[in-house]
Amino acid sequence: MKKSNELLFLGTAGGRITTFRLVRQSGGFLINFGGSLVHVDPGPGAFVYLVRDYGIDPRDIDLIVLSHFHLDHSADLNTLIEAATDGGKKRHVSLFAPITAVEGEDRVLLPYLRRRLVKEEIIKEGVEYEYSDIKVKAVMKHTHHGAETYGLMFNDSVVYVSCARFEEKMLEVYPKNRDILIINTTFYNRRSAVDHLSSEDARVLIEVLKPKRAIITHYSMEMHQKPPEKVAEELTDITGVETLAAQDGTRIEF
Ligand SMILES: [Zn+2]
Ligand SMILES: [Zn+2]
Repeated sequence: MKKSNELLFLGTAGGRITTFRLVRQSGGFLINFGGSLVHVDPGPGAFVYLVRDYGIDPRDIDLIVLSHFHLDHSADLNTLIEAATDGGKKRHVSLFAPITAVEGEDRVLLPYLRRRLVKEEIIKEGVEYEYSDIKVKAVMKHTHHGAETYGLMFNDSVVYVSCARFEEKMLEVYPKNRDILIINTTFYNRRSAVDHLSSEDARVLIEVLKPKRAIITHYSMEMHQKPPEKVAEELTDITGVETLAAQDGTRIEF
């Protein structure tokens, strides 16, 4: 990856069908801050897409961040730690994650790989963490099907609204006027029984938080069929904020 700041979306699937029937790729996204690489929510396939399709050497990854432990956000966590540390030879990889992802019966991190991390931070709402030249703030704890889930901000510029039930509190807590606002926009229409965001929620978030650019991703079948490009156009028209629909492999400089 280049030395400027860049985002790379490995995959854009969200929800059971698009993810686990491989309608779209999964694997989360990478942020390159001037050569420091952060891998966020490495879901299924992340390792293969990185190496085979995007030509990235996993040993260049410095930090892995999980918003929550659900499999579509964490399936390749262990594989990436193995690859990034060169089988334990390199000690430069850090992990920031909720406690429920690393300890307890629902943990997704293998204990023997945990010992290969050079630094681990258990993230808590409202607290900012640092590794190398990367700052990560756990902006808000979300309501998301009983899983401990956090929205995140990277280096005060990239804000990530992970999977969540929409709450008014988001409009107060999330930082305004940042460079990039990524929103896991799983549905087009609001669904009261499901703890995921819709395009209507994304509209409200974009209007109030006024980022320079907004990016939608993490699509269900409903969004996939719309398709997302059309929804992004609608959001751009309504909010006046340039809104992009991430696709598998989308790169965005910022
Ligand atoms: Zn989830
Ligand atoms: Zn999700």
